[in-house]
Amino acid sequence: MTNQKHFCTCTETTCQLNPCNHDLGCDPCIRKNLNKGEIPGCFFHLIDDDTSQLHDFTIEGFVKFYMDTKKP
Ligand code: SF4
Repeated sequence: MTNQKHFCTCTETTCQLNPCNHDLGCDPCIRKNLNKGEIPGCFFHLIDDDTSQLHDFTIEGFVKFYMDTKKP
């Protein structure tokens, strides 16, 4: 990684939008996600649950995953 100063928790470091690969911070990732109606990976890390089987990264998918896994 070349840009460790960023807090990004996304583990997809091969993604060219990951802040470890450029100096533009979150902007490219958020721009891409907004354009696709998706949620950045770091939001999923707020939920303490296994996300390895997750394939729906849409905003609606995130809300459903959050509500389904939210601990009372
Ligand atoms: S918005 Fe994207 S680049 Fe920024 S912390 Fe979240 S996953 Fe990383």
